[in-house]
Amino acid sequence: MAEIIDGKKIAAELREEIRKEVAALKEKTHIAPGLAVVLVGEDPASQVYVRMKGKGCEEAGIASFQHILDPMTTENELLALIDTLNNTKDVNGILVQLPLPRHINEERVLNAIDPGKDVDGFHPVNVGKMVVGDENCFYPCTPYGCQILISRYVKDLKGKHLVIVGRSNIVGKPLANMMVQKNDRANCVVTVCHTAAPDIGYFTKQGDILVVAAGRQNVVTADMVKPGAVVIDVGVNRIPHPDDPSKTKLVGDVDFEGVSKVASAITPVPGGVGPMTITMLLQNTLKAFKIQNSLM
Ligand code: NAP
Repeated sequence: MAEIIDGKKIAAELREEIRKEVAALKEKTHIAPGLAVVLVGEDPASQVYVRMKGKGCEEAGIASFQHILDPMTTENELLALIDTLNNTKDVNGILVQLPLPRHINEERVLNAIDPGKDVDGFHPVNVGKMVVGDENCFYPCTPYGCQILISRYVKDLKGKHLVIVGRSNIVGKPLANMMVQKNDRANCVVTVCHTAAPDIGYFTKQGDILVVAAGRQNVVTADMVKPGAVVIDVGVNRIPHPDDPSKTKLVGDVDFEGVSKVASAITPVPGGVGPMTITMLLQNTLKAFKIQNSLM
């Protein structure tokens, strides 16, 4: 049976380290890191994420500035707010909660964030730096969290075959770029699968490490996994609860029960990758604070 990778516990340990470092820096500088989170509209899932980010900041000693904007906010109004935040000294990191309403061009908004405050790691400057292996950048939070989990469970990553299912700009592609770099936290041989692959099982079966970020339940079953592989399930799918159809339940993209009989270690959903994502946002905000105040 596979060991369960406890993302909640690892995230809590990292958050405690962040909290301690923030406290020490506050004592030294008498200023605190600050994160601005911008939400446009009333999407319930986004509201939950924004609340969780605020709570995460509070627990870490990071100042949280939440800007909850009307759904009818125009693109120009949003761009004006970003310009103000770019020029506000107390704000070290800026995150615009996605998705944005349809009338706002997401790309224009993300590109307007100062790359030095882009703690989500989506600005083309940070993406470019990540691709060329310049560590003076912000890594996108979910793949960054996956990398930390992987490096805890695979001691020598050099030459390991990492297979990723999914090529989105927020998970699959950045993770592939991070894990192919020539450093101790990476140096993997990377394969990326997507819907054009005629048989993803052909690839997934070869992975010493398998990361699944497809957004579909049971995309990976036990027969598609190499015995002893480390499996990271990024997927979050809400399905009717099997015992009570009036309720829902969260499941990942991997058939957890079957795959845990084959893998050596596996993340559960919930409690795997999820808790790591906000933790890496806090980590990035602390990094931004240190860079902006010459504390690195
Ligand atoms: P996305 O933008 O929808 O991308 C999904 C990717 O998976 C696409 O590249 C798609 O291929 C590929 N794919 C889908 N079905 C496939 C199949 N049957 N075989 C092979 N490839 C397949 O999704 P995302 O934003 O990356 O998110 C993926 C999942 O992770 C979602 O469930 C999301 O909720 C979850 N997520 C969780 C967190 C967290 O913090 N826990 C953060 C981000 C995302 P094509 O490109 O060919 O369409």
